[in-house]
Amino acid sequence: MEQLFNTGRDCRSLSLGASSTPESQPAAPATQCALPNGLQLEPDAQLRAFYLALSRAFGPQHWWPARSRFEVIVGAFLTQNTSWNNVERALAQLRQARRLSLQGIRQTDLPSLERLVRSAGYYRQKAQRLKDFVGYLDRRYGGSLARMFAQPTPKLRTELLGLKGIGPETADSILLYAGGHESFVVDAYTRRILERHGLAQPQASYDEIRLLFQSALAPLAHAGSTEPGHSAIDAAHAPSRASRMRRSPLAQMFNEMHGLIVLVGKNFCWKAVPHCHECPLAGFPCRLPSDAPGARGKAQARRI
Ligand code: SF4
Repeated sequence: MEQLFNTGRDCRSLSLGASSTPESQPAAPATQCALPNGLQLEPDAQLRAFYLALSRAFGPQHWWPARSRFEVIVGAFLTQNTSWNNVERALAQLRQARRLSLQGIRQTDLPSLERLVRSAGYYRQKAQRLKDFVGYLDRRYGGSLARMFAQPTPKLRTELLGLKGIGPETADSILLYAGGHESFVVDAYTRRILERHGLAQPQASYDEIRLLFQSALAPLAHAGSTEPGHSAIDAAHAPSRASRMRRSPLAQMFNEMHGLIVLVGKNFCWKAVPHCHECPLAGFPCRLPSDAPGARGKAQARRI
């Protein structure tokens, strides 16, 4: 794995100069992507520093916004390739029709389920995946989420990945947020932030990034390190039954770290235009090209 992860020795100032921005906008200060005194951190130490900086800046994110473990699972399926707003609309439809439960999905015929989840997009596929999951749960665990989540993490992860329509991000979301398993969720924001900070190469696999986070955060969780920060922007979810579920300190840390990364990805680390000058990670080494376009203006806090 070592050759896939870099230290940040190529850190440089990010030019957010006039050449890359509209003339009408004022020049922003250049973002200094370097630690004080030229200090360089190993990737795992840098990820721990990311966690501390972000949790200090934004506080608890209260993931996942759901009233039950099954609702987390439904949300994990529905959120594939769509925005959370669309998922919320589909969840509201299911709830209103009293179908947001194992029994509800089990007893709903496929065309009706498709209608109910239509707003989440790819509704035929997603309705079928929900039916498939309930079928798997019934056959394998007698319809019991408790029995399913009592399985060892590697075994259950392999089983979930074997189901049609479940990739690693969905499997880990189910494991972590519905089951409290210590499995870190890697998404596109995670990869983008790591690549920009020289912590992962584009060819790094999902599991290599997942394992990097897992080994990096373990010492923090075992040291009982939690940072009660205050959210500077309105991007955290309200506490929910699912976010208050009992989980191990490490699972809670994975929970928070993923939520914080999503916050950074949505509010600062945009694909085309990173807002480094407003981001709490701006002080860390980065590998953005010196001509990377920079944006001005206030980052808009948005909910997933
Ligand atoms: S926006 Fe933040 S996370 Fe993205 S490259 Fe800039 S400092 Fe890093």
